[in-house]
Amino acid sequence: MQLISSKQGFSVYPITVPTKYNVKTFNFYLWDNGNSLSLIDAGLDSKECWEQLNSTLSENGFTLDDISQIILTHTHEDHIGLINRILTKRKVPIYAHSKSIPYLKRDKDFLSFRIEFFKQLYKEMGCGDLGISRVEKLIKAVQERENYSIQTDIISLSESDIISGLQVIETPGHAPDHLVFYYPKKKWLLGGDHIIGHISSNALVEPDSEGRRILTLVEYIQSLEKCLKFNIDTVYAGHGRLITNPKELISTRLMKISQKSDQILSLIISGISTADQLAQTYYKDKYQKEFELVMSDIIGYLDYLEFSNKIKKELKNSVWQYSQL
Ligand SMILES: [Zn+2]
Repeated sequence: MQLISSKQGFSVYPITVPTKYNVKTFNFYLWDNGNSLSLIDAGLDSKECWEQLNSTLSENGFTLDDISQIILTHTHEDHIGLINRILTKRKVPIYAHSKSIPYLKRDKDFLSFRIEFFKQLYKEMGCGDLGISRVEKLIKAVQERENYSIQTDIISLSESDIISGLQVIETPGHAPDHLVFYYPKKKWLLGGDHIIGHISSNALVEPDSEGRRILTLVEYIQSLEKCLKFNIDTVYAGHGRLITNPKELISTRLMKISQKSDQILSLIISGISTADQLAQTYYKDKYQKEFELVMSDIIGYLDYLEFSNKIKKELKNSVWQYSQL
């Protein structure tokens, strides 16, 4: 990606790291407001991301010491990976949504509460032994990351805050803590994973602070519609290409969501009644390979269809059975 610089001294320096995964690239950004340099997201914890950060800094006449803060769109591991490496060299504050804090701090109570949530969820959605084994995998992953707790000041951001000249917009859906950053003067959006050019973003299922399931797809649709109200020309996305047709792309994404919900509704009408069976039917091979993503996706659509008064559910033998309303 090209450096795009504004005349007012505000510049975005993209850090782009290719990957074989279908996200194509991990993108994170240096944001220069003329007075201070911010890092927007922090890539994956990999040698490639670390080297690319350092080379982008030096190519533009900066060093790590010039970074005065890290600003996060959300806390998925491919957006926070380099934080601890940076903190060992330079203590900088982190700005993120208040909901990001328990993830960043690896809060033990929160993480075990989240594990219980998925255990119960996969059971109620009819996932059986596969669900149990995937929860065990999650427990292991949490244990392995016990020492990843981020030790620095974390300052919470919320709707309409201005950080380093960027307007904060809350965009829950892909993640409950998701934020995007808008620079109205140039109609730029630093968009994290809210909109990606070549693939649809997943609205990943998560519990709220009370342990209730968030209607992630409903929130995601609302956040996409919210972005249509802003005058945006360019989106610096968390993966893939620079987006220069955001309005058109958002409309396409909304249309695809509507088409997919119709497809899932027709599967329910045909008699497939549990989330697990729907996931197996809809996703076939992907069901085993990408279990968490696939289940999250189907559950998101079921919640959306229920929210839209198109389906109802009934608990039978501890598993939700869905049917047309
Ligand atoms: Zn993400």
